[in-house]
Amino acid sequence: MRPNRTIGIIGGGQLARMLASAAAELGFKINIYCPDRDCPAAQVANKTVLGNYNDNAKLVAFAKNIDVLTYEFENIDTKALEELGNIVDIRPSVKALKISQDRYTEKSYLNSLGIKTTQFYKIDEVSDIEKHFIKIKKPILIKTRRLGYDGKGQVLIKTQNDVNELFLNNELFPSIAEEVISFDKELSVIIVRDKEGNTKAFEPGENVHEHGILVKTTLPSSMSEKLKNDATEIAKKIVVDLDYIGVMGVEFFLKGKELLVNEIAPRVHNSGHWTMDGSYSSQFQQHIRAIMELPLLSTERHSNVIMCNLIGKVTSDLMKNELAKVYIYGKKDARPGRKMGHVNVIKKKGS
Ligand code: AMP
Repeated sequence: MRPNRTIGIIGGGQLARMLASAAAELGFKINIYCPDRDCPAAQVANKTVLGNYNDNAKLVAFAKNIDVLTYEFENIDTKALEELGNIVDIRPSVKALKISQDRYTEKSYLNSLGIKTTQFYKIDEVSDIEKHFIKIKKPILIKTRRLGYDGKGQVLIKTQNDVNELFLNNELFPSIAEEVISFDKELSVIIVRDKEGNTKAFEPGENVHEHGILVKTTLPSSMSEKLKNDATEIAKKIVVDLDYIGVMGVEFFLKGKELLVNEIAPRVHNSGHWTMDGSYSSQFQQHIRAIMELPLLSTERHSNVIMCNLIGKVTSDLMKNELAKVYIYGKKDARPGRKMGHVNVIKKKGS
């Protein structure tokens, strides 16, 4: 192991902050590339390079001073990244990023692997909505193909009037239309794969979202062992097909006995934060190990845990619990809907 290497991360949010802490444990240095001097990761990184995500010259200069490049969010210009790929190893690959940053490409890709998703339709112009709206005859969810996160860039269309008011006014082109499904549960698999092709998955967690934002992940989930195994096998199929290196989050809807993939994230994922306290390794340690070619650790869960996001606030009654571990991301303003931190409430297994 060569500890003095430097990992570059594009993006300076909480995911980069927690990756930086995990990297420091192993003696790696972290350089952050982000436009905001006060970003959460800057507070724990070795160096922060300020630059816009579309500033190719700055990105190239950044890449020249690091050994491996990773990223903490999907909305990065892949053309710029492809150029950086000539300078430094990018993990996960640009291919994985390209697929996951466009909802239409992502769902088409999943279907091409035989993996089920919700029904979706390509929306390039308003007449496409009307066409599908007539066909579907029930509420539809419009989601922008790119740049959507935490429920942003989404509108629910129930009437023709909504098409004009919600869709046209919000300029949501190009987008996809999806059937609104009444799922029974939401779950996610956090999986890691290394360069040699070894994969390890954490036990699937059960997620609750409100207004499109994750509020809670519970382990163990209330799903059968079979469904947990099926979800894990689906996640494995994706990382193997992509020859993936690093951690991926795969989000599912469970409807009856059917698992539908909603989204894949080529990075560490909010629904994997429980691993910091409920498992023998965290998703952050595993990502750093995979991209730096170190052996993967056990993903076994040792405790029951509920992860609760602190949304728009930095306090919670949960903090009074002496088995609650609190993580605050160091963001300046606690705006509504903004993830400010999270709490892992631990319960010893069997208690
Ligand atoms: P997304 O931005 O696609 O990850 O969606 C965020 C959340 O919105 C999901 O985790 C679900 O709770 C909800 N959601 C998204 N798509 C659908 C759908 N087609 N039907 C019902 N709920 C959905």
